[in-house]
Amino acid sequence: MPPGFRLHNTRSRKLEEFTPLQPGKIGLYVCGMTVYDRAHVGHARAMVVFDTFVRYLRHRGWEVTFVRNFTDVDDKIIRKAAEEGIEASALAEREIQAFHRDVDAMGLARPDIEPRVTTSIDQIVALIATIIERGHAYAADGNVWFDVKSFESYGQLSGQKVDELRSADPDAGKRESADFALWKAAKPGEPAWDSPWGQGRPGWHIECSAMAGTELGATIDIHGGGLDLVFPHHENEVAQSEAGHGCRYVNYWMHNGLLTMAAGVKMGKSLGNVVNIEDVLKTFPAETLRLYYLQNHYRSPLPWNDEALPEALGMLSRLYEARDIAETMRGEETPEKIAEALGADAIKVLQLGRAFEEQLYTALDEDFNTSKALANLLSLARAVNRLGSHKKAKRRAGPLVAPALAAFELVGRTMGLMTTPTQDFLEEVKDKRLASMGVSRAEVERLVADREAQREAKAWAEADKIRDELLAMSIIVMDGPQGSRWKVRLEAADAQA
Ligand SMILES: [Zn+2]
Repeated sequence: MPPGFRLHNTRSRKLEEFTPLQPGKIGLYVCGMTVYDRAHVGHARAMVVFDTFVRYLRHRGWEVTFVRNFTDVDDKIIRKAAEEGIEASALAEREIQAFHRDVDAMGLARPDIEPRVTTSIDQIVALIATIIERGHAYAADGNVWFDVKSFESYGQLSGQKVDELRSADPDAGKRESADFALWKAAKPGEPAWDSPWGQGRPGWHIECSAMAGTELGATIDIHGGGLDLVFPHHENEVAQSEAGHGCRYVNYWMHNGLLTMAAGVKMGKSLGNVVNIEDVLKTFPAETLRLYYLQNHYRSPLPWNDEALPEALGMLSRLYEARDIAETMRGEETPEKIAEALGADAIKVLQLGRAFEEQLYTALDEDFNTSKALANLLSLARAVNRLGSHKKAKRRAGPLVAPALAAFELVGRTMGLMTTPTQDFLEEVKDKRLASMGVSRAEVERLVADREAQREAKAWAEADKIRDELLAMSIIVMDGPQGSRWKVRLEAADAQA
């Protein structure tokens, strides 16, 4: 059996010891995208959180089946397709492909199963029929409504009182305002499928109940999604699945907090404050986003502002620098002997490096606290960077930084950070940051070479002038024994470094 862990369960609002349905196995269902537009950085948070969660569980020996659906038919898709003058199915297909490109570009593993609504209609219709048979839903004028009052524990997940609720679905034939649609009668010109209640299409909530049940069984281990889905979406999933299957739907509910804009505003298409993943990845390496999300506890609300990614990139760069420094260190002595010779910084690197793996497991096994794990990682990287300035470190500290290098490798495997060779990463940062500033790389390299030439001619004033010119373009030149290197200033990060 893999080692245990604890999770905050939204239903109990408590930390709970995780017990799987089957030893060593975890079935995880996460609500996916409604594919009518590009994925934005709000979606990316859930994508990164659950990708990392799965990555970590697998590293610990769990056999995980990860299911994430696509909602490929719904009002928004139909409306947008009509605006563009194309079929809803063509629009959905195009957006699914764009989503896959984003997932791949972010370095996320694709889920094991990605069911779609339009290919799950039979299962959806069958589940609705069972819910009606069991007396929890009724048909009226081609619609099928879930009878909320028939399901006693309705509201338990989200803590709502039925009497105070109304669903967003139109009233056509509803008995109670809280009742919600399982099946919607076809409207002219909209995609529709046959059913015992006439032509129509599924309501939003029923699709996840049907797909989760089909892929993972009537009861699933962990159901995830953004906190904004708790009500009504997940509350309704519980009602449908439990009414249909007669057993508990989900053992552990895991919800990630939302990205917030200034003054607590949520990011959303309808709010016009959206930053697409595609656009972010043109100007930042993908791990920047990953670090930004994982630096925060997955349940916390996360403020988004213009400084968020430059700061995360500064931090990420320090991690890569630390690895670069550690990799070039050599030596033959025992770590203890080197630590004794080099003093406090060296002792710290050795201690933090050796403690890291255990601390990572402790942090992630306690409600997946990536924030804590990354704080430890940054302390370790800072210590390595400090040790790097010690003049004997390069020649002697190799054996001492071995645990730190192992820690960096472990972070790659479990959290998907520091997975690129350092030089590739630094080049990617240069290209993307220059692109975002509209500066040409050839121009920078010409200026750096000019400055080299002036220095060789001992024309110091000229050389300094070019350095200032580069600095005004946010290019920092560093002179070393092998000549000059340059990097792009990462605003906030470099200012404080
Ligand atoms: Zn869902």
